[in-house]
Amino acid sequence: PAQLNKLADEFTVLPNDHPASDAKRQELIDKPAFGQIFSDNMAHMTWTDGEGWSDRRIEPYGPLKMDPGASVLHYAQECFEGLKAYHHADGSIWLFRPDANAERFQNSAKRLYLPELPIDDFLGSVAALVRRDANWVPTRREYTLYMRPFMFASEPFLGVRAPKEVDYCVIASPSGPYFPGGVKPVSIWIEDKWFRVGPGGTGFAKCGGNYAASLLGEYTGIKNGCEQVCFVDAATKTYLEELGGMNMFIVHKDGHLETPSLTGNILPGVTRRSIIQLAQDDGHDVVEGMIKFDQLVEDIKSGEVTEVFACGTAAIITPIGRFKSNDIDVTVADGGSGELTMKLRNQLLGIQLGEIEDPHNWMWKV
Ligand code: PMP
Repeated sequence: PAQLNKLADEFTVLPNDHPASDAKRQELIDKPAFGQIFSDNMAHMTWTDGEGWSDRRIEPYGPLKMDPGASVLHYAQECFEGLKAYHHADGSIWLFRPDANAERFQNSAKRLYLPELPIDDFLGSVAALVRRDANWVPTRREYTLYMRPFMFASEPFLGVRAPKEVDYCVIASPSGPYFPGGVKPVSIWIEDKWFRVGPGGTGFAKCGGNYAASLLGEYTGIKNGCEQVCFVDAATKTYLEELGGMNMFIVHKDGHLETPSLTGNILPGVTRRSIIQLAQDDGHDVVEGMIKFDQLVEDIKSGEVTEVFACGTAAIITPIGRFKSNDIDVTVADGGSGELTMKLRNQLLGIQLGEIEDPHNWMWKV
Protein backbone atom coordinates (compact mmCIF):
# COMPACT_ATOMS: atom_id res chain seq x y z
CA PRO A 1 0.00 0.00 0.00
CA ALA A 2 2.75 2.48 0.88
CA GLN A 3 4.38 1.48 -2.38
CA LEU A 4 1.29 2.50 -4.42
CA ASN A 5 1.72 6.11 -3.38
CA LYS A 6 5.40 6.04 -4.28
CA LEU A 7 4.60 4.62 -7.73
CA ALA A 8 1.91 7.26 -8.21
CA ASP A 9 4.47 9.98 -7.40
CA GLU A 10 6.24 9.11 -10.67
CA PHE A 11 3.34 10.73 -12.55
CA THR A 12 3.52 14.48 -13.12
CA VAL A 13 0.19 16.14 -12.43
CA LEU A 14 -0.64 18.75 -15.08
CA PRO A 15 -3.04 21.61 -14.27
CA ASN A 16 -6.71 21.27 -15.15
CA ASP A 17 -8.43 24.62 -15.70
CA HIS A 18 -11.85 23.18 -16.39
CA PRO A 19 -12.84 20.54 -13.82
CA ALA A 20 -16.55 19.86 -13.39
CA SER A 21 -18.21 22.06 -10.75
CA ASP A 22 -18.88 20.41 -7.39
CA ALA A 23 -22.61 20.39 -8.11
CA LYS A 24 -22.20 18.90 -11.60
CA ARG A 25 -19.78 16.22 -10.37
CA GLN A 26 -22.09 15.23 -7.53
CA GLU A 27 -25.02 14.97 -9.94
CA LEU A 28 -23.00 12.72 -12.26
CA ILE A 29 -21.78 10.51 -9.42
CA ASP A 30 -25.23 10.13 -7.91
CA LYS A 31 -26.81 8.92 -11.15
CA PRO A 32 -24.00 7.23 -13.04
CA ALA A 33 -24.83 5.94 -16.51
CA PHE A 34 -22.16 3.26 -16.85
CA GLY A 35 -19.31 4.15 -19.17
CA GLN A 36 -20.87 7.37 -20.43
CA ILE A 37 -19.34 9.90 -18.09
CA PHE A 38 -15.70 10.31 -17.19
CA SER A 39 -13.78 11.99 -14.40
CA ASP A 40 -11.88 15.26 -14.86
CA ASN A 41 -8.46 13.75 -15.59
CA MET A 42 -6.70 10.82 -17.21
CA ALA A 43 -3.32 9.11 -16.92
CA HIS A 44 -1.16 9.07 -20.04
CA MET A 45 2.21 7.62 -21.07
CA THR A 46 3.86 7.08 -24.41
CA TRP A 47 6.19 4.40 -25.75
CA THR A 48 8.55 4.49 -28.70
CA ASP A 49 10.70 1.74 -30.11
CA GLY A 50 13.86 3.66 -29.27
CA GLU A 51 13.03 5.24 -25.90
CA GLY A 52 10.68 2.79 -24.25
CA TRP A 53 8.04 4.15 -21.85
CA SER A 54 8.20 7.82 -20.92
CA ASP A 55 6.27 10.99 -20.13
CA ARG A 56 4.27 9.70 -17.15
CA ARG A 57 1.55 12.27 -16.60
CA ILE A 58 -1.92 12.99 -15.28
CA GLU A 59 -3.60 15.40 -17.66
CA PRO A 60 -7.09 16.84 -18.18
CA TYR A 61 -9.52 14.31 -19.68
CA GLY A 62 -10.16 15.15 -23.32
CA PRO A 63 -10.03 14.01 -26.95
CA LEU A 64 -6.79 12.41 -28.11
CA LYS A 65 -4.96 13.74 -31.11
CA MET A 66 -4.74 10.84 -33.48
CA ASP A 67 -3.42 10.48 -37.00
CA PRO A 68 -5.99 8.86 -39.32
CA GLY A 69 -3.20 6.49 -40.33
CA ALA A 70 -2.70 5.27 -36.74
CA SER A 71 -2.28 1.48 -36.89
CA VAL A 72 -4.91 0.79 -34.23
CA LEU A 73 -7.65 2.24 -36.45
CA HIS A 74 -6.79 -0.30 -39.14
CA TYR A 75 -5.44 -3.41 -37.44
CA ALA A 76 -6.82 -3.15 -33.89
CA GLN A 77 -3.53 -3.35 -32.01
CA GLU A 78 -5.13 -2.54 -28.70
CA CYS A 79 -5.61 -4.10 -25.28
CA PHE A 80 -7.27 -2.95 -22.08
CA GLU A 81 -8.11 -3.69 -18.47
CA GLY A 82 -10.98 -3.03 -16.10
CA LEU A 83 -10.91 -2.61 -12.31
CA LYS A 84 -12.65 -0.53 -9.68
CA ALA A 85 -11.78 1.92 -6.92
CA TYR A 86 -13.87 1.32 -3.79
CA HIS A 87 -14.79 3.84 -1.10
CA HIS A 88 -14.72 2.47 2.45
CA ALA A 89 -16.81 3.74 5.35
CA ASP A 90 -13.80 5.47 6.96
CA GLY A 91 -13.31 7.58 3.81
CA SER A 92 -10.32 5.61 2.48
CA ILE A 93 -10.11 4.45 -1.16
CA TRP A 94 -8.99 0.97 -2.22
CA LEU A 95 -8.23 -1.12 -5.32
CA PHE A 96 -8.97 -4.86 -5.57
CA ARG A 97 -5.99 -6.95 -6.72
CA PRO A 98 -4.62 -4.36 -9.17
CA ASP A 99 -1.44 -6.45 -9.43
CA ALA A 100 -3.49 -9.21 -11.10
CA ASN A 101 -4.81 -6.74 -13.70
CA ALA A 102 -1.28 -5.43 -14.28
CA GLU A 103 -0.06 -8.96 -14.94
CA ARG A 104 -2.93 -9.76 -17.30
CA PHE A 105 -2.33 -6.49 -19.16
CA GLN A 106 1.22 -7.66 -19.85
CA ASN A 107 -0.03 -11.02 -21.12
CA SER A 108 -2.53 -9.30 -23.42
CA ALA A 109 0.18 -6.97 -24.79
CA LYS A 110 2.54 -9.90 -25.44
CA ARG A 111 -0.12 -11.72 -27.45
CA LEU A 112 -0.67 -8.64 -29.65
CA TYR A 113 3.02 -7.88 -30.07
CA LEU A 114 2.56 -4.61 -28.19
CA PRO A 115 5.19 -3.48 -25.65
CA GLU A 116 4.58 -4.70 -22.11
CA LEU A 117 3.81 -2.00 -19.57
CA PRO A 118 5.91 -2.46 -16.41
CA ILE A 119 3.77 -3.59 -13.46
CA ASP A 120 4.89 -0.53 -11.46
CA ASP A 121 3.68 1.84 -14.20
CA PHE A 122 0.31 0.12 -14.34
CA LEU A 123 -0.11 0.37 -10.57
CA GLY A 124 1.30 3.91 -10.44
CA SER A 125 -0.91 5.22 -13.23
CA VAL A 126 -4.12 3.82 -11.74
CA ALA A 127 -3.23 5.03 -8.24
CA ALA A 128 -2.18 8.48 -9.50
CA LEU A 129 -5.49 8.95 -11.32
CA VAL A 130 -7.53 7.73 -8.35
CA ARG A 131 -5.62 10.12 -6.11
CA ARG A 132 -6.10 13.04 -8.52
CA ASP A 133 -9.81 12.33 -9.01
CA ALA A 134 -10.52 11.03 -5.51
CA ASN A 135 -13.61 13.25 -5.37
CA TRP A 136 -15.02 11.21 -8.27
CA VAL A 137 -15.06 7.98 -6.24
CA PRO A 138 -18.72 7.63 -5.24
CA THR A 139 -19.34 7.20 -1.52
CA ARG A 140 -22.71 5.41 -1.71
CA ARG A 141 -22.53 1.69 -0.94
CA GLU A 142 -21.77 -0.47 -3.99
CA TYR A 143 -21.04 2.60 -6.13
CA THR A 144 -17.47 2.63 -7.49
CA LEU A 145 -15.11 4.44 -9.81
CA TYR A 146 -14.49 2.09 -12.74
CA MET A 147 -10.90 2.38 -14.02
CA ARG A 148 -10.11 1.61 -17.65
CA PRO A 149 -6.41 1.30 -18.54
CA PHE A 150 -5.74 0.75 -22.27
CA MET A 151 -2.94 0.91 -24.82
CA PHE A 152 -2.98 1.23 -28.57
CA ALA A 153 -0.67 1.52 -31.59
CA SER A 154 -0.67 5.25 -32.35
CA GLU A 155 2.03 5.19 -35.02
CA PRO A 156 0.74 6.37 -38.42
CA PHE A 157 1.66 3.36 -40.52
CA LEU A 158 -0.41 1.08 -42.74
CA GLY A 159 2.01 -1.82 -42.86
CA VAL A 160 1.16 -4.80 -40.73
CA ARG A 161 3.93 -5.09 -38.17
CA ALA A 162 4.69 -4.37 -34.53
CA PRO A 163 4.18 -0.64 -33.87
CA LYS A 164 7.04 1.72 -33.10
CA GLU A 165 4.80 4.19 -31.22
CA VAL A 166 2.22 3.30 -28.59
CA ASP A 167 0.04 5.32 -26.22
CA TYR A 168 -1.16 4.13 -22.82
CA CYS A 169 -4.00 5.85 -20.95
CA VAL A 170 -6.20 5.31 -17.93
CA ILE A 171 -9.66 6.86 -17.82
CA ALA A 172 -12.21 6.61 -15.00
CA SER A 173 -15.99 6.38 -15.01
CA PRO A 174 -18.27 6.47 -11.94
CA SER A 175 -20.54 3.44 -11.86
CA GLY A 176 -23.51 2.30 -9.84
CA PRO A 177 -24.48 -1.18 -8.63
CA TYR A 178 -24.95 -3.70 -11.45
CA PHE A 179 -28.28 -4.77 -9.95
CA PRO A 180 -29.83 -1.55 -8.57
CA GLY A 181 -33.06 -3.32 -7.65
CA GLY A 182 -31.39 -6.35 -6.03
CA VAL A 183 -29.62 -9.34 -7.56
CA LYS A 184 -31.66 -11.02 -10.29
CA PRO A 185 -30.80 -14.25 -12.17
CA VAL A 186 -30.14 -13.87 -15.89
CA SER A 187 -30.99 -16.09 -18.85
CA ILE A 188 -28.19 -17.36 -21.07
CA TRP A 189 -28.20 -18.12 -24.77
CA ILE A 190 -25.78 -20.85 -25.85
CA GLU A 191 -24.18 -19.54 -29.03
CA ASP A 192 -22.73 -22.19 -31.32
CA LYS A 193 -22.52 -20.40 -34.64
CA TRP A 194 -20.75 -17.07 -34.15
CA PHE A 195 -17.62 -17.48 -32.06
CA ARG A 196 -15.54 -14.74 -30.51
CA VAL A 197 -12.24 -16.63 -30.44
CA GLY A 198 -10.68 -19.89 -31.58
CA PRO A 199 -7.81 -22.21 -30.63
CA GLY A 200 -4.48 -20.38 -30.76
CA GLY A 201 -6.35 -17.08 -31.03
CA THR A 202 -6.67 -14.17 -28.62
CA GLY A 203 -9.20 -15.54 -26.11
CA PHE A 204 -6.89 -15.16 -23.11
CA ALA A 205 -6.03 -11.56 -24.07
CA LYS A 206 -8.27 -8.64 -23.14
CA CYS A 207 -8.22 -7.01 -26.55
CA GLY A 208 -10.88 -5.00 -28.34
CA GLY A 209 -11.06 -7.41 -31.26
CA ASN A 210 -12.54 -10.15 -29.09
CA TYR A 211 -15.40 -7.88 -28.10
CA ALA A 212 -16.01 -6.72 -31.67
CA ALA A 213 -16.16 -10.37 -32.71
CA SER A 214 -18.59 -11.20 -29.89
CA LEU A 215 -21.35 -8.76 -30.90
CA LEU A 216 -23.04 -10.85 -33.57
CA GLY A 217 -23.30 -13.73 -31.11
CA GLU A 218 -24.48 -11.41 -28.33
CA TYR A 219 -27.28 -10.04 -30.48
CA THR A 220 -28.28 -13.53 -31.59
CA GLY A 221 -28.82 -14.21 -27.89
CA ILE A 222 -30.85 -11.06 -27.40
CA LYS A 223 -33.01 -11.88 -30.44
CA ASN A 224 -33.67 -15.22 -28.82
CA GLY A 225 -34.92 -13.55 -25.65
CA CYS A 226 -31.82 -14.00 -23.49
CA GLU A 227 -29.93 -11.39 -21.50
CA GLN A 228 -26.44 -12.83 -21.93
CA VAL A 229 -24.59 -15.28 -24.14
CA CYS A 230 -22.29 -18.16 -23.27
CA PHE A 231 -19.92 -19.10 -26.05
CA VAL A 232 -18.94 -22.73 -26.69
CA ASP A 233 -15.57 -23.75 -28.09
CA ALA A 234 -15.22 -23.08 -31.81
CA ALA A 235 -13.38 -26.32 -32.58
CA THR A 236 -15.95 -28.85 -31.34
CA LYS A 237 -18.99 -26.69 -30.42
CA THR A 238 -19.23 -28.86 -27.33
CA TYR A 239 -17.56 -27.23 -24.35
CA LEU A 240 -18.74 -24.18 -22.44
CA GLU A 241 -16.21 -21.34 -22.40
CA GLU A 242 -17.40 -18.01 -20.98
CA LEU A 243 -19.87 -15.17 -21.35
CA GLY A 244 -19.10 -12.04 -23.38
CA GLY A 245 -17.74 -10.35 -20.27
CA MET A 246 -17.86 -12.89 -17.45
CA ASN A 247 -16.54 -16.31 -16.45
CA MET A 248 -18.84 -19.10 -15.27
CA PHE A 249 -19.16 -21.51 -12.32
CA ILE A 250 -21.37 -24.54 -11.74
CA VAL A 251 -22.34 -25.75 -8.24
CA HIS A 252 -23.03 -29.46 -7.72
CA LYS A 253 -25.38 -30.84 -5.08
CA ASP A 254 -22.46 -32.25 -3.03
CA GLY A 255 -21.08 -28.70 -2.76
CA HIS A 256 -18.18 -28.92 -5.22
CA LEU A 257 -17.76 -26.31 -7.93
CA GLU A 258 -16.72 -26.61 -11.54
CA THR A 259 -15.44 -23.89 -13.86
CA PRO A 260 -14.10 -24.04 -17.44
CA SER A 261 -10.33 -24.43 -17.41
CA LEU A 262 -8.02 -21.78 -18.82
CA THR A 263 -7.58 -23.36 -22.26
CA GLY A 264 -6.27 -20.16 -23.82
CA ASN A 265 -9.71 -19.48 -25.28
CA ILE A 266 -11.07 -17.70 -22.20
CA LEU A 267 -10.08 -14.67 -20.17
CA PRO A 268 -8.46 -15.54 -16.83
CA GLY A 269 -10.78 -13.43 -14.68
CA VAL A 270 -9.52 -11.83 -11.49
CA THR A 271 -12.95 -12.51 -9.99
CA ARG A 272 -12.78 -16.15 -11.15
CA ARG A 273 -9.43 -16.59 -9.44
CA SER A 274 -10.72 -14.96 -6.26
CA ILE A 275 -13.86 -17.09 -6.14
CA ILE A 276 -11.84 -20.29 -6.53
CA GLN A 277 -9.83 -19.18 -3.48
CA LEU A 278 -12.84 -18.17 -1.37
CA ALA A 279 -14.71 -21.39 -2.19
CA GLN A 280 -11.66 -23.47 -1.28
CA ASP A 281 -11.19 -21.49 1.96
CA ASP A 282 -14.77 -22.46 2.75
CA GLY A 283 -14.05 -26.18 2.23
CA HIS A 284 -15.48 -26.56 -1.28
CA ASP A 285 -13.58 -28.50 -3.93
CA VAL A 286 -13.17 -26.55 -7.17
CA VAL A 287 -12.55 -28.43 -10.40
CA GLU A 288 -11.20 -26.59 -13.44
CA GLY A 289 -12.12 -28.71 -16.42
CA MET A 290 -13.80 -29.14 -19.79
CA ILE A 291 -17.55 -28.81 -19.32
CA LYS A 292 -19.92 -30.12 -21.99
CA PHE A 293 -23.13 -28.13 -22.43
CA ASP A 294 -25.07 -31.38 -22.99
CA GLN A 295 -23.79 -32.76 -19.70
CA LEU A 296 -24.71 -29.55 -17.87
CA VAL A 297 -28.26 -29.74 -19.20
CA GLU A 298 -28.56 -33.36 -18.07
CA ASP A 299 -27.14 -32.48 -14.65
CA ILE A 300 -29.51 -29.55 -14.24
CA LYS A 301 -32.48 -31.78 -15.14
CA SER A 302 -31.42 -34.55 -12.74
CA GLY A 303 -30.75 -32.11 -9.89
CA GLU A 304 -27.02 -32.94 -9.83
CA VAL A 305 -26.30 -29.27 -10.59
CA THR A 306 -28.08 -26.93 -8.19
CA GLU A 307 -26.65 -23.49 -9.03
CA VAL A 308 -24.86 -21.78 -11.91
CA PHE A 309 -23.40 -18.29 -11.82
CA ALA A 310 -21.28 -15.91 -13.85
CA CYS A 311 -18.61 -13.63 -12.41
CA GLY A 312 -16.59 -10.57 -13.31
CA THR A 313 -15.53 -7.15 -12.04
CA ALA A 314 -18.74 -5.41 -13.14
CA ALA A 315 -21.39 -7.56 -11.47
CA ILE A 316 -19.15 -9.54 -9.05
CA ILE A 317 -21.46 -12.57 -9.25
CA THR A 318 -24.56 -12.92 -11.40
CA PRO A 319 -26.83 -15.93 -10.81
CA ILE A 320 -27.86 -17.80 -13.95
CA GLY A 321 -31.47 -18.97 -13.90
CA ARG A 322 -31.99 -20.41 -17.35
CA PHE A 323 -30.16 -21.74 -20.43
CA LYS A 324 -31.53 -21.60 -23.95
CA SER A 325 -30.22 -22.81 -27.30
CA ASN A 326 -31.83 -23.69 -30.63
CA ASP A 327 -33.24 -26.91 -29.19
CA ILE A 328 -32.92 -26.59 -25.41
CA ASP A 329 -34.66 -24.50 -22.76
CA VAL A 330 -33.83 -25.46 -19.20
CA THR A 331 -34.28 -23.72 -15.83
CA VAL A 332 -31.60 -24.10 -13.16
CA ALA A 333 -33.24 -25.47 -9.98
CA ASP A 334 -36.14 -23.05 -9.26
CA GLY A 335 -34.67 -20.31 -11.44
CA GLY A 336 -33.75 -18.19 -8.41
CA SER A 337 -30.46 -17.08 -6.86
CA GLY A 338 -28.62 -20.03 -5.29
CA GLU A 339 -27.46 -20.12 -1.68
CA LEU A 340 -23.74 -20.63 -2.29
CA THR A 341 -23.89 -18.14 -5.18
CA MET A 342 -25.17 -15.42 -2.86
CA LYS A 343 -22.83 -16.41 -0.03
CA LEU A 344 -19.77 -16.06 -2.28
CA ARG A 345 -21.12 -12.82 -3.71
CA ASN A 346 -21.63 -11.27 -0.28
CA GLN A 347 -18.22 -12.45 0.85
CA LEU A 348 -16.38 -10.95 -2.12
CA LEU A 349 -18.39 -7.73 -1.98
CA GLY A 350 -17.76 -7.52 1.77
CA ILE A 351 -14.00 -7.74 1.21
CA GLN A 352 -14.11 -5.15 -1.56
CA LEU A 353 -16.12 -2.71 0.55
CA GLY A 354 -13.95 -3.26 3.63
CA GLU A 355 -16.88 -4.65 5.61
CA ILE A 356 -15.34 -8.03 6.37
CA GLU A 357 -11.80 -9.29 6.89
CA ASP A 358 -9.55 -9.49 3.81
CA PRO A 359 -7.74 -12.78 4.53
CA HIS A 360 -5.55 -12.74 1.42
CA ASN A 361 -4.57 -9.04 1.43
CA TRP A 362 -6.32 -8.46 -1.87
CA MET A 363 -7.11 -4.81 -1.16
CA TRP A 364 -4.57 -2.07 -1.92
CA LYS A 365 -5.05 1.28 -0.24
CA VAL A 366 -4.54 4.28 -2.50
N1 PMP B 1 -14.35 -12.79 -19.45
C1 PMP B 1 -14.41 -11.71 -20.26
C2 PMP B 1 -14.51 -11.92 -21.72
C3 PMP B 1 -14.37 -10.42 -19.71
O1 PMP B 1 -14.43 -9.34 -20.50
C4 PMP B 1 -14.29 -10.27 -18.31
C5 PMP B 1 -14.28 -8.89 -17.70
N2 PMP B 1 -12.97 -8.40 -17.59
C6 PMP B 1 -14.23 -11.42 -17.52
C7 PMP B 1 -14.27 -12.66 -18.13
C8 PMP B 1 -14.11 -11.33 -16.03
O2 PMP B 1 -12.83 -10.89 -15.67
P1 PMP B 1 -12.58 -10.09 -14.32
O3 PMP B 1 -13.07 -10.96 -13.23
O4 PMP B 1 -11.10 -9.90 -14.27
O5 PMP B 1 -13.34 -8.83 -14.42
